[in-house]
Amino acid sequence: MYAKVIVDVPAKPTNRAFDYVVPEAMKDLVTVGSRVGVPFGPRTVQGFVVELHEGTELDPAKLKPIAQILDLIPPLTPELVKLARWISRTYLCHEITALQAMIPGALKAKYERHVKVDEHGGRRGGHENVLMLPVPNQEEILNYVRKQETVRLETLLEKFAGDTLLVKQLLEDGVLTEVHMVKDRMSAKKALTVFPPENPEQLAAWQEELPARAAKQKLVLEYLQKHPEPIKLTELLSRLHITAAAVKGLAERGWVRLEEVEVQRDPYASRTFRPTSPLPLTPEQQKVFDCIKDAVLSGEQRVFLLNGVTGSGKTEVYLQSIQTCLDQGREAIVLVPEISLTPQMVERFKGRFGNRVAVLHSRLSHGERYDEWRKIVRREVSVVIGARSAVFAPFTKIGLIIIDEEHESTYKQEESPKYHARDVAIARASEHGAAVVLGSATPSLESMYRTGREAVLSATPDRPAFELLTMTSRVEGRPLPRVHIVDMREELKNGNRSMFSRALYKAIEERLHKKEQTVLLLNRRGYATFVMCRTCGYVANCPHCDISLTYHQSSRAIRCHYCGYAERELTACPDCGSEHIRHFGTGTQRVEEELSKLFPGIRVIRMDVDTTTEKGSHEKWLTIFKNRQADLLLGTQMVAKGLDFPHVTLVGALAADSVLNLPDFRAAERTFQLLTQVAGRAGRHELPGEVFVQTYTPEHYSILSASKHDYQGFMLKEMLMRKQHNYPPFHRLVLITLSHEQVQLLIRSGEAVAARLKELASQMQAEGTELEVLGPVASPISRIKDRYRFQCMIKYRGEMDIAGLVQQAVAVLDDAVKQRKLTVSVDVDPQILM
Ligand code: ADP
Ligand code: ZN
Ligand code: ZN
Repeated sequence: MYAKVIVDVPAKPTNRAFDYVVPEAMKDLVTVGSRVGVPFGPRTVQGFVVELHEGTELDPAKLKPIAQILDLIPPLTPELVKLARWISRTYLCHEITALQAMIPGALKAKYERHVKVDEHGGRRGGHENVLMLPVPNQEEILNYVRKQETVRLETLLEKFAGDTLLVKQLLEDGVLTEVHMVKDRMSAKKALTVFPPENPEQLAAWQEELPARAAKQKLVLEYLQKHPEPIKLTELLSRLHITAAAVKGLAERGWVRLEEVEVQRDPYASRTFRPTSPLPLTPEQQKVFDCIKDAVLSGEQRVFLLNGVTGSGKTEVYLQSIQTCLDQGREAIVLVPEISLTPQMVERFKGRFGNRVAVLHSRLSHGERYDEWRKIVRREVSVVIGARSAVFAPFTKIGLIIIDEEHESTYKQEESPKYHARDVAIARASEHGAAVVLGSATPSLESMYRTGREAVLSATPDRPAFELLTMTSRVEGRPLPRVHIVDMREELKNGNRSMFSRALYKAIEERLHKKEQTVLLLNRRGYATFVMCRTCGYVANCPHCDISLTYHQSSRAIRCHYCGYAERELTACPDCGSEHIRHFGTGTQRVEEELSKLFPGIRVIRMDVDTTTEKGSHEKWLTIFKNRQADLLLGTQMVAKGLDFPHVTLVGALAADSVLNLPDFRAAERTFQLLTQVAGRAGRHELPGEVFVQTYTPEHYSILSASKHDYQGFMLKEMLMRKQHNYPPFHRLVLITLSHEQVQLLIRSGEAVAARLKELASQMQAEGTELEVLGPVASPISRIKDRYRFQCMIKYRGEMDIAGLVQQAVAVLDDAVKQRKLTVSVDVDPQILM
């Protein structure tokens, strides 16, 4: 048996699979998707088996055998291996990068030097005393290594610290040989566990048998009579207030058994989830549910775009659809944006499906995430809820994939592999015959477009058309909140320089009186809080990036958000020496300060990157808010999504147009989505809600439409704009970004690749393909970490092998990439154009 293996050689990534012999002993274990250690040059590296064959076209004598098999249950399925190939073709990345993205970080390989005894090795043949000295330790060392097959070199040297020279000699003589082992960064957690005897009746008799002074041992036996099940040693010790000696004594007598047992790090172990049962659906929900149910039962790939207003009960529809899927003995994946994977969300899924749910998100520790993931591999769960990468859950019978808030840009991974979870989900659904549900109150224009006539006509299994489902009202006829647009220019004219309009001020005050709650969104990113000299106009910029530095009050420092460069806050201008330094823009910290000035005693929770880095902090803040121990929740994007609190009756968006001014063709769409999402937090239950949107461009259609909850109106206007400018969804984009320390080389390279692209394009244009090459131009952020950045953009329409085209064009840069360290990054269907 021979295996083709994609190897992980970071210095020399390659898409080629290498051939290895499957040793007889591994035959039953190695399958497509197995993770193995294989010899590669002088080392052993990690790899993934992507094919198995009975024969080989190569000379079998020259092939090396697989050295290690790393897991008993392969971490990947044949379907995922195939998917990795698809990702590598579609998004232009190495196959190994795609494969690595599918497994948890804990399985990223680490390499260790081990030694083993070579029974036939040794220069003198046999294992006589190699130093020819009376060294009794030689046999001891060899036996120690033999017993464990291989031992880490460091461990061996530590254990036989006095015999380092001997170990060295044994290695030089070939009695011991070095082997490189692939190890996981993280392993299963184990704990010593006490097992009572098979027949617990004996315990009483043994207790009698013990001498009186063995009081502690008696205590243990007594406990085990009452609780005759295995218990963690540490737990037993703390319950009985005894030391391990007592238990060990019993183990020596053979009365109890002490054994290392794997334990799972369950991040939700300490929590109980109140079970919920399905709610009777509203007629709108029922209609949607019936469609999804039909699809799940049909066993065919079908994709639904569920456009349901905030609070229309999408989650309940998801839950019942998943139930249908589980009833069929199939599995379900639910994707949510990272920041909306709140305890509340988890509770709703755990409450309905209990321990059949695994949860994957980045706030778990490496170990916890690994253990959650292993529940999937071992088929202990059939539902997984997680952020983007959970789309790779190694299930084998997927019936349903749900992507909530499908418009979120975080579903696109920004580093290689630059995949979009939506497209990966659709690809997986095609293999599994599964249904895909894309849910949103504000579907992306890309998805909306695919419910249209043109998409239906050009549908392929790779790019199927979407079926549109809608839910237009909130459950129980609750009204959508009333939205007021506040023109901040008027406020300024009337002498109000505060960041709060008078209307919003009054509204907050009113909520404080009525003991209702407020959510305030400040959707400014860091760069809005720049530092400027009011005398000469100097702005503090990062010396390594083309970006202004951001002021952080807590550390009294100014920082670069791209490279982490930091310096102390300015007290005087470096250019003119003036002391009139001003920190511009309103970061969340400044809003918090102003709130406590305006409303003495107000209890504010601030949620932003600074206050939520600590593990569990996110949940802590939300729990405090939920328990109404705070009046106001202030934060960035992370307060806009997924929160469902009955006492929130007021929502304020402080700077609605800050996203609108970004140099990105999706700026209007993002603004509309964000305002709609945050407005959706208000009045979700009995109490009606009210929203204030503060803006300097109140006439902009994205703000007007959001204030009227008019998705349809916004979508049609925006579609028209996109069509006029040949932007997605009408055209598709590929962004090629080059970066290098020298501008000259960069410009030359940019021009070379653009010229080649244009040459290839003109051939295709002649054949009737719509394709346009733009650039090279400096990227919107023209320098990061001392490297300049240039970009080319391809706009095209229709189905074509765009990846193949880009690959051909980029090939002209091969030499510069190899010799001059030019970086080329290709982004297919980019979400961010910076
Ligand atoms: P969405 O995800 O569309 O924003 P949710 O699923 O969060 O909406 O539903 C909003 C609220 O309505 C939740 O508190 C939910 O429990 C409740 N709800 C959903 N469906 C029903 C129903 N059929 N009957 C009663 N309440 C419902
Ligand atoms: Zn920087
Ligand atoms: Zn100055």
